[in-house]
Order: sequence, then C-alpha cells, then structure tokens
Amino acid sequence: MRTADSLSFRLNWTLFDRTVPRVVGASSRSQKDEWKRCRPDSLSTALIMLVLGAILGQPTSSIAATPGKGFERTPLFGRNYVGAEEWANANAATCKWTRSSEALLLTSEKFKLLLTVNSQKAMLNGVQIWLSAPIAMHQSAVYISECDLQTLMHPILFPQRRDHRVKTIVLDPGHGGKDRGKPAGIQEEKTHTLALAKILKPLLETKGYTVAMTRSEDITLVLEDRSEIARQKGGDLFVSLHFNSAGEGGPGVHGIEVYCMTPAGESSTNGTNDPAERNFAPGNKLDTQNAALGYHVQRALANRSGQEDRGLRRARFAVLKMAHMPSILIEGGFLSNPREAKLIASTSYRRKLAEAIAAGIEDYVRLTNPIDRKGSKPSTHKASKGG
Ligand SMILES: [Zn+2]
Repeated sequence: MRTADSLSFRLNWTLFDRTVPRVVGASSRSQKDEWKRCRPDSLSTALIMLVLGAILGQPTSSIAATPGKGFERTPLFGRNYVGAEEWANANAATCKWTRSSEALLLTSEKFKLLLTVNSQKAMLNGVQIWLSAPIAMHQSAVYISECDLQTLMHPILFPQRRDHRVKTIVLDPGHGGKDRGKPAGIQEEKTHTLALAKILKPLLETKGYTVAMTRSEDITLVLEDRSEIARQKGGDLFVSLHFNSAGEGGPGVHGIEVYCMTPAGESSTNGTNDPAERNFAPGNKLDTQNAALGYHVQRALANRSGQEDRGLRRARFAVLKMAHMPSILIEGGFLSNPREAKLIASTSYRRKLAEAIAAGIEDYVRLTNPIDRKGSKPSTHKASKGG
C-alpha cells in the first residue's frame, strides 16, 4: 500500500493542443477497449440522434451541450474533456494527489471528489458514482469528460429547481405474475419487490406524497406498461424496485446499486450494449434530474442499510428508457448472496431499506422543488401541503 503523498497537483497548460494525445499509463488492452467504448460509434448513429432529438424537441445529445460555459474543452479519445484543476478552481476546490499520478482528491467546502486515473469509478462525498468515461491523464494533467460534468457532477452538486413540486410518486415493484424475477434466494424476487413497495408506500404517504403503484398484487406486467401506467397516474417521480443476482461473481457478490438512464451516446456501466441502442431516448430528456435523484437515493441507502455501496450506475433498462418523469431503478441487494438473501427476506431489513429510499427521495425533493414564491427558502413538500 502506498502512503498518501502531498504532491500538489500541477496542470500542464497545454489546453489548446488539438492533437489526439497518448494516454499516460493506459497501455493495456482492457484500458484501450474502455476508451474505445466511449467514442461516438459512427456518423450514422450521430445522424439518428440528430433526427430523434429534433423530433422530440430536445437536445440532440447531452454530450453536445455545454456543461460549464467557459471551461476550455480538450478533445481526447473522440470526446471533449475538461481539465480537473480548471474545474476545481472554478468551484473553489483544491487538488491533491492521494496516490501519485493515480488518485486525485478535489476538496471544497461543499464536496470531496476522488478521481482515479483511467477509471470510471469515482467517490463523491463518500458515495460511489460511475462515470460515463474514464478519467484521463494527459501531459501530467487530469481530465474529466464534459459529459460527466454535465450529466452527473453538476446535476448532483448544483441541482436544478423543478418547474413544479413533487406530489405523486409511482412505485414499480419489479416483475410479477409469470415473471418471477431473479431465481436465487429464499423467495422469488417478485415477492420481495412487492413486499418492499408495500412498506415504502405508507412511509411516503405520511410525508405528504400521493403514491401510486404499477402493481399491488402478483400480476404480470410488460415493461412498456409500467412506464405508461406511471404517466397515466401523473407521476412526478418513478422508482422501480428490484433485487439482484450475481452471475459470474457468484454468491460472494453483495451490495446495493441504483441505476439511472445512460446518457445518449454513452455506454452503460455494466458494459456491453449495442451501439444502435445508444440513441437519444425519452428518458434522456431528464438526464440531470435522474442523476440527482439516483445519487441521493444511493447515498441514503449506502449510509443507512449497512450494506456495500456498489454505486450510482447507468443502464438503458426499458422502464428508464421510456420514462416521462425523473426515474431510477434500485437493486436493493443480492439474492444470490446467502447473507443478503436472508436479510432481504426479513421485514425489519425491508423496513430499513424503505426508510432509506424515502429519506433519499426527500433529500432530492428538498433540493429540487421550486422556491416558494413568498420567501427565499426552498419549499419542502410538507410546507407546500400546509400552504
Ligand atoms: Zn429484477
């Protein structure tokens, strides 16, 4: 183990270099493959995104928009990056290597962000988040992708106020009926997801929300129906509940994950997906809100459940892809892990999960509800109910 050194972070100011540089330290096949996946796949994909974006009246790609106006963009590996030190300076943060040329810690009064060179894993205020693109190192300077600043960092650190308050939350107990879900565990996944939803629903109702469910009994629902039900119920938020099962990792894998929609053009966290699948989808209209909601729920689950934090991740699950409102999908533990399966089957642990999810939703709502017209303080849902 290396001890932390105090090498101050020095940026080599070659930000006007427009040539495609060599990645320092990214020489292995897997690292090269990782970079390759982050590139736009083809001109045809870009054109499809343009057309879809025009039809949907939304930005053609979240990559193309401007995250931090004024930041110098540096093209690396087919995408735009921003210098970590420049970004840190703009946000009154300091940079310090915790492992020389490997791990860089950005610290301000508001946040601690740990970036690892050539990795998509980052830690933001103690919570694991998965970047869309690996952190780059070029000529001794560290870079973070513009896409990650725009669709992950900024939405979490500087959440945007919504147009209207969150009133209705739609809970989606995963699977049901003929679809039993993950096969491992003491009981079937579909049973656990419904049981969790039935604890979470009254918890949210006591906080003043109207709560709708995509299913409240053991019935089969196709994935597309779930998004449509949520839309018909007038949902302001959509929370899909699932439990995990490990394939390759086997029974040793455990912990909690929260997913939000993958930004257009990017790869999902869990790897392989068809380039044709990367087009702009309805769920991408809400990239920033999705990330903020997902982060706060993951943080609350990681802090309160006592289980491993496997991070805020990206996926193009059908319920996220077709979503009309800020949406997340929670994997509340691994049924393939005997210890977690036992916990998940217990009412007391499900209550702990439900309380954490409710707390995370409340954190998101507090930061994103509109400012009360009468005062300068942001209005909570409870305050709005009374007024
Ligand atoms: Zn599931």
